[in-house]
Amino acid sequence: MGKKKERKAKSKTKHKSTQKYKYYTVEGENLKRNKNFCPKCGPGVFLGARKINDKIVYYCGNCFLSQEKKE
Ligand SMILES: [Zn+2]
Repeated sequence: MGKKKERKAKSKTKHKSTQKYKYYTVEGENLKRNKNFCPKCGPGVFLGARKINDKIVYYCGNCFLSQEKKE
């Protein structure tokens, strides 16, 4: 006794990162956003896209706002 047990290595990632960088594509010197921001929540909150009846509907996972895509 007395000897300390070696701590189990905790997994470094507690939760999955949102990987927001995936929502951007670099075109030359410009940064293009692939996704729209939520008008309610502001920049940083992306809208998810879902196809419903051949319409693309964006929805916010934060405030549950949804809007159809304007053409
Ligand atoms: Zn929102």
